[in-house]
Amino acid sequence: MTNSKFEFSARDYDFVEYVQAQNWIGGEWTPSASGNSEEVLNPRHGEVMGSVVFSNKSDLQSAFEAAKNAQPGWAERPIRERAEVLYKLKSLMEENLDELSWLLSHENGKTFPEAKAEVLKGIECVEMGASLQNMADGGQLDVSRGVNCRVIHEPIGVVAGVTPFNFPTMVPLWMIPQALVAGNSFIMKPSERTPYGAMKLAELLQEAGLPDGVFNIVNGGKEAVEAITDHEGIKAVAFVGSTPVAKIVYERGSKTGKKMVCLGGAKNHLVVVPDADLELTSSNVIASFTGCAGQRCMAAAVLLAVGDTQHIIDAVAEGSAQIEPGTGIGPIITDESYERIMGFIDQAEADGADVIVDGRGAKVEGAGGRWIGPTILDNVKPGHPCATEEIFGPVLTIVRVDTLEEALEIENASPYGNAAAIYTTNGGIAERAINRFEAGMCGVNIGVPVPREPFAFGGWNDSKFGHGDMTGWDGFTFWTRPRKVTSKWALQSDQTWMS
Ligand code: NAD
Repeated sequence: MTNSKFEFSARDYDFVEYVQAQNWIGGEWTPSASGNSEEVLNPRHGEVMGSVVFSNKSDLQSAFEAAKNAQPGWAERPIRERAEVLYKLKSLMEENLDELSWLLSHENGKTFPEAKAEVLKGIECVEMGASLQNMADGGQLDVSRGVNCRVIHEPIGVVAGVTPFNFPTMVPLWMIPQALVAGNSFIMKPSERTPYGAMKLAELLQEAGLPDGVFNIVNGGKEAVEAITDHEGIKAVAFVGSTPVAKIVYERGSKTGKKMVCLGGAKNHLVVVPDADLELTSSNVIASFTGCAGQRCMAAAVLLAVGDTQHIIDAVAEGSAQIEPGTGIGPIITDESYERIMGFIDQAEADGADVIVDGRGAKVEGAGGRWIGPTILDNVKPGHPCATEEIFGPVLTIVRVDTLEEALEIENASPYGNAAAIYTTNGGIAERAINRFEAGMCGVNIGVPVPREPFAFGGWNDSKFGHGDMTGWDGFTFWTRPRKVTSKWALQSDQTWMS
């Protein structure tokens, strides 16, 4: 077991208090120079479980200095040694799987099985980082007689990541493994609503042998992010969060010449045609829109029901109505999010939508959090806010259309472009849909088409600003600079000291 300073003891949903999330600078927990902090809520109970410091420019500068001092020594190590730390991190995460998953469930609210699945997916990302030592050999070619070109993947220097509340352990691990194995040092700014996942990773990375200063955490909100985007010494930033913030962060970071990739929000469309498999489609659609209480960027948001698909809609409605809040679906993260989601449902109903499954009024005995059960809005018009804006809750909006062409036009008109899926048993229809979707990640009979390692993750249009993707090999290229070396040597005809 780990010698964690901040061991999290809960092994069930009962409320427990936890600690203040401070900054992790140079391998030590450090209070913020700002003296500011905010409460961290346990969303299931709606109670304060701890607090998080709110950092300023001076905190970021301290983290930067620690990162800058540590980076050259880290980059000098061969990639195999750097990857070794990731191997150890993977083992430590496996050993501490229960603690990591329960902590995640408490800070974010997702159910324990969902939390465990998130940590396991995070471990998969760590595994990808560890395997880079066998993949990152660059390339070389004799491009002319006696002339050779090769590529070396060089580190960038000090880099940073900013993450959202909904995947406090996995999303940091979309960035950290590749960035560290590449030889960079890293500054992490986790969500102020869920700071504990990254805190645990910092301790495990240290235990895995990462030199102090190579990984740092600066907690807080907008001020801490602006300190990162404005810092001239930080050369690359990855961001994951909502579209308006992704755009601001992308523009601000680009002004100081940083390499930026900023993933934003989503409105994912699932197209269902009459020949779709009833059981596979209905169970998959339910899992897609209710998983993590709809608070994930890959969740199904709009079901485009083509032609006579009533039998599938009936099965989706029947199955989702049986999901129990508390065990089958977690709470909504904050009061503000709850009000926003309820507002969308009320508005749709007032505008004539049929609420065929109604999750309003959901309650969980002994849990004081904000709950909304699975909710399905049927017969919604294509331009309605419920069909176009990100709701980020367990709400499925059904828009009925007559043809596949109509469905594709609606999907294409969305400003977002994260994910889209088609449900069909016909290969030709599947190909037609995936070739037309305006989305970076497409599914065939899969409602959450997350590309698994070594494939990269990233949407299109307003779901991503900047260049490249995260995770997989593309994540490695984002966190490196390619050095191109062209060599030509005179042939040695005489004897040299090497002869
Ligand atoms: P958010 O945009 O509110 O916050 C994300 C991060 O930005 C946090 O660390 C926050 O502190 C910081 N931030 C907030 N306002 C800021 C500002 N004005 N300037 C600078 N930084 C600021 O997002 P959230 O509510 O934590 O997460 C949910 C959103 O994230 C949803 O829109 C969801 O679709 C999106 N998301 C996208 C992906 C993806 O891969 N595309 C993955 C997960 C979540």
